Amino acid sequence: LEGAVIKAEKLAILGQMAAEMVHEIRNPLTVIGGFLTLLQKDLTGTPKEKHVSIIRAELEHVNNLISDFLQFSRPGYAKRTRCSIVQIITDVTMLVENEASLRKLEINLDLAGDIPDIFGDSDQLKQVFLNIFKNAFEALSFGGKIFVQSSWNSNERIVQVIIRDTGMGMDKQTMTSMFNPFFTTKENGTGLGLFIIKKIIENHGGKIEIQSEPGKGTIVTVLLPAG
Ligand code: ADP
Ligand code: MG
Repeated sequence: LEGAVIKAEKLAILGQMAAEMVHEIRNPLTVIGGFLTLLQKDLTGTPKEKHVSIIRAELEHVNNLISDFLQFSRPGYAKRTRCSIVQIITDVTMLVENEASLRKLEINLDLAGDIPDIFGDSDQLKQVFLNIFKNAFEALSFGGKIFVQSSWNSNERIVQVIIRDTGMGMDKQTMTSMFNPFFTTKENGTGLGLFIIKKIIENHGGKIEIQSEPGKGTIVTVLLPAG
């Protein structure tokens, strides 16, 4: 047991160091981005323009990796309060509303009102639904639909949220790897979204289940115990 405690402590310290490292990396990246913008202006219309845009794309990728990583490792991770899942979903929907309308996507909400609070970190839980929405958006073409439904299982005291999209869906191979860190099928993906939200949900004593069919769409079910 002592060995396990030491190992857990080591991991916690490593996690903290990684988070600080990533913060430190962010500043020089901002400077690089700034000078890149200047270079890009100078090189417009020259054969070197292409090189700068490749650097820009790679820089963007590193920036995305850092944002996704910080979502999970930010301090205050364990700050838990009573929170309403209906409120969390309403907040997240407001955050993505603009993007949805730009993409001509329809979000249908069916949120039952009488759901008990859960005991959790509301910022982390918002991140969970934000990442699920983000994936749904990226799976949908113009005019697609997203259905969000929350319900309460009083026997098992579990809050259930289902997010369904009518997007491209996933094949079997993608389904077996989707939760692996850095697994992505997208050109600009980080492959950290599902990995991180699975960890957050499990830290809350919950579960995530995903069903999907290529060409039909995807159903994400999040189960969280009431607090
Ligand atoms: P990323 O979005 O950066 O690729 P994620 O961990 O969020 O990383 O997702 C991993 C992979 O799972 C995606 O690249 C995609 O292939 C698949 N995926 C996740 N959500 C959906 C969805 N709603 N519809 C289709 N594919 C999805
Ligand atoms: Mg994602």
